[in-house]
Amino acid sequence: MRKQRVFAAVIGGGASGMMCAVRAAERYRDRKLVILEKADRVGKKLLVTGNGRCNLSHVGAGAASYHGEGSGELIHLLFRKYHDQAVLSAFRALGLLTHTDSEGRVYPLSNQAASVLDVLRRRLAQLGVEEICSAELQNIQKTAEGYEIAAADRCICAEKVIIATGGKADYAGRESGSRELLRSLGLSMSRLSPSLSPVTVKSELLRSLKGIRASAQVSLIERQRIIKTERGEVQFTENALSGICVFNLSRRGNLGGCELSLNLLPDFSQDQIIAEIDTRLRRDPNAPVSEIFTGMFHKNLGLALIKASGLKPSTPCHHISDKEIKVLCRRLSDWRFDCEENRDFKKSQVTAGGVRLNEIDFHTFESKRHRGLYIIGEALDVDGDCGGYNLQFAFASGLCAGDSL
Ligand SMILES: Cc1cc2nc3c(=O)[nH]c(=O)nc-3n(C[C@H](O)[C@H](O)[C@H](O)COP(=O)(O)OP(=O)(O)OC[C@H]3O[C@@H](n4cnc5c(N)ncnc54)[C@H](O)[C@@H]3O)c2cc1C
Repeated sequence: MRKQRVFAAVIGGGASGMMCAVRAAERYRDRKLVILEKADRVGKKLLVTGNGRCNLSHVGAGAASYHGEGSGELIHLLFRKYHDQAVLSAFRALGLLTHTDSEGRVYPLSNQAASVLDVLRRRLAQLGVEEICSAELQNIQKTAEGYEIAAADRCICAEKVIIATGGKADYAGRESGSRELLRSLGLSMSRLSPSLSPVTVKSELLRSLKGIRASAQVSLIERQRIIKTERGEVQFTENALSGICVFNLSRRGNLGGCELSLNLLPDFSQDQIIAEIDTRLRRDPNAPVSEIFTGMFHKNLGLALIKASGLKPSTPCHHISDKEIKVLCRRLSDWRFDCEENRDFKKSQVTAGGVRLNEIDFHTFESKRHRGLYIIGEALDVDGDCGGYNLQFAFASGLCAGDSL
């Protein structure tokens, strides 16, 4: 087995690991740094982020958009120095131009995730950071000088080690085993659950809605109590509700027993909805009730609403009773779907849970248990909302650790 001595080894060539390596290599120009990556290339996941556009940050990102025990305090402290503008200026220095959309989401000006990866990789090459790919870290041991790492065909002795192995699902949506590695270091971990994923729901009606999108206000309800509400575009799939607003409600692993409620007319009061439906029913009393949503919703969505209200689509409008109108109007503002347990990491963008934050020094990301060992990015018990928050944290934590080695 080949033995190699280095100053620092970054485990995981993803967003946080690459940024950390760039920053550390800029500070320690005469010292050897390596990145160990289990995939055949670094940064593969970056290429699929933001639907290939890479939403790399969010203007004004703050603690309110992050979750995980203790994350509020960590983000508050971290973003004092490594805020969105600091991340963007680090990228600007690498040559990346960006643009920000009306929601505050930041993308590369090229609208290509590859641009983000290219500038990081170019700088890593300039700085002489060695990328060792197809090298999954299997074992790590503490020694008098630092750490001894076994990966692929070599044994690396590093003074400093940065764990940047990400969440449970890897770049290709496959479940990764880095949790065992973290546990082997004696690091305490919180329970992992998928976040930012579609929510599987039980409904016969979904099949006819596949591919349809609708603006809505969506609430997550547990035992008749609203847990969280989001507004945006809901996408219907064969067996799930999807879209950014649903993603942001998907964080809990134990969604079984919860409901999602769709309000398809969030800007209408219940009285306004009743008045609107009443007018539509009266407009053509002999027409089938299935036609009242013409000009309002996608045809299949209207049909599904009628069926969900227990009505037959062919019933003439004038046959609909006051009681049935009330049920239909209620459905428009509160259409309930029973959620299934959310355990599918492969469909999730982020892992909620990870190394507990009381394991690290908030100023440096260094492990309190193992000096010289740093943990950054999604491997930690920090997950953000959809909209560039997760990459913002990955890059910010990478910069902070890189400055602290
Ligand atoms: C489809 C999709 C779209 C997304 N879009 C966005 C978006 O637009 N904006 C946003 O903010 N966030 C987005 N995210 C989330 C974001 O990509 C992650 O939060 C972020 O990449 C986390 O960075 P990281 O460096 O911690 O981990 P990762 O980027 O996941 O990198 C971890 C790396 O470590 C490697 N690795 C793991 N275990 C080992 C091991 N034992 N040995 C060696 N290497 C190992 C992995 O192969 C991987 O390359 C998206 C996620 C997905 C899946």
